[in-house]
Amino acid sequence: MISVVLFDLDDTLFAHRRAVEEGVIAHLREMGVVADPTRDAAEAARWTELEELHYSSYLAGRLDYLGQRRSRARDFLSPYGMTPESDAAAERWFEEYLHAYRSAWTLHEDALPALTALSGYRLGIITNGVTHFQQPKLDALGLTPYFEHVITSGDFGAVKPDPSIFLHACAVFGVDPAEAAYVGDRLNTDAIGAVGAGLTGVWLNRSTKTGPDAAAEAVAAGVWVISSLEELPNLLGALA
Ligand SMILES: [Mg+2]
Repeated sequence: MISVVLFDLDDTLFAHRRAVEEGVIAHLREMGVVADPTRDAAEAARWTELEELHYSSYLAGRLDYLGQRRSRARDFLSPYGMTPESDAAAERWFEEYLHAYRSAWTLHEDALPALTALSGYRLGIITNGVTHFQQPKLDALGLTPYFEHVITSGDFGAVKPDPSIFLHACAVFGVDPAEAAYVGDRLNTDAIGAVGAGLTGVWLNRSTKTGPDAAAEAVAAGVWVISSLEELPNLLGALA
């Protein structure tokens, strides 16, 4: 019987990728760098790829938090022939980008309706990030009142998909893993990770681009797959 529903934040509830891409293009405009709007999509995608690369290094312990920001800024600026002259300059460039990123914060349209529909469950967040960066998103977008506990990897000291962070969240709620579901947009990090810790794992696959391999991997791992949070209340109801 599931009584606790835990969520990933970025790209599950919060439209992170949308804000990242709008943010970096706005920042480029502010810098006067890109005049050709036909390059926007490619540049936004490149910035997202660099986040994947360097944020993964941070989560794996190969870069510290500011180090991943500096590396990402340097790699992004390099094709423009721009090199931040110091670590401080790279961090400043990133801080300026963050203003534009914050201006583009939104929730996925299905987030609040789903949370409202799940009022009979205790709700929480497990996010791979640092509290001072993640909590303002929850506050600014009106999510905070829905959640009993927000678990960040930065505070806890281990990252998803390590089972320990899922088990920690269950302990904070005082429930067995069998009583908790975890919902996230990353198949391995979120859903399969949760199943590995004994929770019900739900993969939110909003993309139409993932192939049959990912779907087969999800099924083989015992993960439930939804394409919108709209499907979540019925799924959890059916599992009860
Ligand atoms: Mg996510």
